Amino acid sequence: MGKYVIAGNWKMNKTPAEAKALIEEIKPLVKDATCDVVVGVPFVDLSVALEATAGTNIGVAAQNCHWAKSGAFTGEISAEMLKEMGVGYVILGHSERRTYFGDTDVTVQQRTRAALDAGLTVILCVGEYLEQREQGVTGEICAMQTKIALGGVSKEELSRIIIAYEPVWAIGTGRTATAEQANEVCALIRNTVADLYDVEAAAALTIQYGGSMNAANAAELLAQSDVDGGLIGGASLKAPDFATIVAAAK
Ligand code: PEP
Repeated sequence: MGKYVIAGNWKMNKTPAEAKALIEEIKPLVKDATCDVVVGVPFVDLSVALEATAGTNIGVAAQNCHWAKSGAFTGEISAEMLKEMGVGYVILGHSERRTYFGDTDVTVQQRTRAALDAGLTVILCVGEYLEQREQGVTGEICAMQTKIALGGVSKEELSRIIIAYEPVWAIGTGRTATAEQANEVCALIRNTVADLYDVEAAAALTIQYGGSMNAANAAELLAQSDVDGGLIGGASLKAPDFATIVAAAK
């Protein structure tokens, strides 16, 4: 299956000084990681994060980017700006952006296109709301979000895509999907990618689970056949917990 990637999504937490301190704490704890390790920090923390992680095995992600290269988009940040700084990853389509900031499947696709064009690796979030799960349309929702976001993405570019399955009802709620639920949807996403490209491309794709993953439940989730890593919110803000999750990703 895909290469294991453990990524922290810090959301709107940590000032630059706090970000530096947290990275300094994380660094020695994950230096022998056998998976890829990424910290997704607020825009204003990117500089210190890049400085603090230089020469280490920790990659840095932004939490969004605009689809245009430049222009009259006050308050926005382009993928090219991120790339020039030295940022390697960008988290796109997070449910908090879809819910609170109007991101749609179409703008997620546009942002994905821009990020790939700039040379970034995309952590693409998909996932269903609780009522959609209860209506039995989880598979349809996740397949649709995946298909739309990957519109126009070539097979070669797929190597710079990581998909994070994040059931919205599990994010920040303490309510984790069971290992079986997580694996079932990650497998479904892999099958969707196999239909769009081929089985080989789908097998090489990293598919993460995200949603209240923590030091206690990570090992079981990460042991599932179609779960190749995690996107971690709350637990990524505590260095020992994040390191325990990284160590569980073997
Ligand atoms: C997230 O923000 O992507 C996330 C999974 O958050 P949490 O781990 O806090 O549920």
